[in-house]
Amino acid sequence: MGPHDQQQTTPAAAGGAAPKYRKQEQEPANPEVTEVAPGILRLQLPIHLPGLGHVNCYALEDERGFAVVDPGMPGPRAWKELRAAFARAGIPLARVHTAIVTHSHPDHFGGAGRLAREVGASIVAHRSFRLRWNPAEPNDDIDAEAQAAATSSACVHGSACDGADGHQHHDGEMIREHNWDSPAPWGGRPPAPTRLRRLRWRLLRAVPRWMPTPVPTTRLREADTIRFAKRDWVAVHTPGHTADHLCLFDPAEGVFISGDHVLPTITPHISGLMMADDPLQKFFDSLDKVRVFHDQVRTVLPAHGHPFHDLAGRVDAIKHHHDGRLDRLHTASKELGRAGTVTEFSNYLFSPRAQGPMADSETYAHLEHLAMHGRAERRRRPDGLLEYDVA
Ligand SMILES: [Zn+2]
Ligand SMILES: [Zn+2]
Repeated sequence: MGPHDQQQTTPAAAGGAAPKYRKQEQEPANPEVTEVAPGILRLQLPIHLPGLGHVNCYALEDERGFAVVDPGMPGPRAWKELRAAFARAGIPLARVHTAIVTHSHPDHFGGAGRLAREVGASIVAHRSFRLRWNPAEPNDDIDAEAQAAATSSACVHGSACDGADGHQHHDGEMIREHNWDSPAPWGGRPPAPTRLRRLRWRLLRAVPRWMPTPVPTTRLREADTIRFAKRDWVAVHTPGHTADHLCLFDPAEGVFISGDHVLPTITPHISGLMMADDPLQKFFDSLDKVRVFHDQVRTVLPAHGHPFHDLAGRVDAIKHHHDGRLDRLHTASKELGRAGTVTEFSNYLFSPRAQGPMADSETYAHLEHLAMHGRAERRRRPDGLLEYDVA
């Protein structure tokens, strides 16, 4: 845990009936609009998911109007909430000229397509930005809503898995690359939202005016610069949580927009389904990459939770969390005394109520990381399940 983890006061201590949130990211959206850095407002948009109470939409002002980062979830209710938040901030919708999307999760890109359609906003994302649920793509049963469903189930395992070291996981990627009905790469059950939920989301998608697909008009490459809030921002590609994750660094004012890559009190979900080769290593590399900026960064603006200052401290805490996980797999292997399946190892990492395909996917990412670094042996059993021996 970094020094910026917020300790919530208990209702008794606060003298009121305020609910207690163990994590900043769980707090419901505060309607207050705050200036968090020169020319940058923080608007909190509600997300109605267990484990995530809001997403931060940052509004960057310049002479042309506003660029907004991560304008919330898709759908009519989120759009209404976005408009209300802009109204509170005194930002006329027509002045929004750009939507910046940090990555391809619905709580981040959701409002971008609608902003493009309603007010002609440009959409800025990393060049690898990709939505698998795009209706234009053939044979695609996976959509943004399904991702949202995965996000909510991830939060369940997240809140359970923090018993040991106080970390939680934020997800949304999970099923993006995976078909519901085929087995997971490790042979187990793939994560999937309920049928009802899938149907509901599919209906929503069927009404395109509610969820226009965001099509980036500017696709940034690593180290590209782009001008917002009257200064230049450097694009920093940070694959790990998703392959297309983008952070933005402002050397002039020392501001770092971190998206879900570096969050104040939870760790982003790293999915074993997301990329073929060692997503955990990609995430570590992306953490090391942003850590390099730490002595120039005065303010980190995360997508969930409060702005914070100690980028290096938070990066180190997140890496420490994952190192703990990898060590735990090592001791679990000893305790098992034989090779174990992903689910068996998952039982060591996650509490009973967190068990399931989401937990398995994260465990799989860790086991694959060990295997690729020669610290575990992997083989496929006759029944199709992968099993691992951790050295
Ligand atoms: Zn995300
Ligand atoms: Zn998020």
